[in-house]
Amino acid sequence: MIIDVHIHPFCKEVTVTPSVEEAVKRMFSRHVPKRREMIEGMVTFLFTQRTVQDILCDMDDAGVDKACIVAMDLTTHYGVELVTNEDVARIASAHPNRFIPFASVDPCMGRAAVDKLVHAVQKLGCRGLKLVPPVQHFDFSDPKYNSLWEAALELKIPVWTHASHQQSHPDSDARLGNPMLVEPVALRYRDLKIVLGHCGFPWHWETWSLVVRHPNVYVDISAHTNLYNHLPWDAYAKYEAEDKVLFATDYPLWGFKDTMSALKNINLPSEFEKKILGINAARLLCID
Ligand SMILES: [Zn+2]
Repeated sequence: MIIDVHIHPFCKEVTVTPSVEEAVKRMFSRHVPKRREMIEGMVTFLFTQRTVQDILCDMDDAGVDKACIVAMDLTTHYGVELVTNEDVARIASAHPNRFIPFASVDPCMGRAAVDKLVHAVQKLGCRGLKLVPPVQHFDFSDPKYNSLWEAALELKIPVWTHASHQQSHPDSDARLGNPMLVEPVALRYRDLKIVLGHCGFPWHWETWSLVVRHPNVYVDISAHTNLYNHLPWDAYAKYEAEDKVLFATDYPLWGFKDTMSALKNINLPSEFEKKILGINAARLLCID
């Protein structure tokens, strides 16, 4: 079974607040014109032309059995929500064998964020939490977010966090993507499962260090397939972390097939590759 632990269901069946046009303006207007045009065109296309069925077709085409679909709550910094918790829950309940819904909350909203997470899991059926510190502008290590980690722990859901710099958003704060900020939380809540997204680039060795030292910390290999040669694959294997490397793409920003062929090109031992493609995620997400 192939499981992708991080995709965005950007399509016309989801909600963009306040609107696609306004969200694009708020998020990308500070890019240099050429890049802004490219991103604006792509985002507008995805949210106005694509469908859930298109996503399923792309998964089928690449042989991806299941995918975690994520919401994105950027309320404090941009006043934008790209895909809501209700959207991912609704799409997943229409395709329960294909999609696993991950809620998003904005940690800067304090108690409201905790309540929103509890609602998303208990009422909507979300099965994970997705966060983007460099864009949401919060420091993962700050103890003021402890109640959020305690809620995730109590709800028995994994926390997926963007652990990389962020090229797509011009005013993101790269320092907040540094995976070492996760360390105090991993130590404080040893049963809280945390996935470091996007291979930890450019902090891939720091990411490796966290994953090999903390049984509750995982890494996903989404995005940056063009930099796979720099990833410490063999070091994960040598330090018995083969069970904590997870397949993911960040689709539709990166493709299923491209990511799978980049992974094949690394020529990992087939047992390790199988674990990455699905066995590890099935265990993390309790999928039979
Ligand atoms: Zn993403």
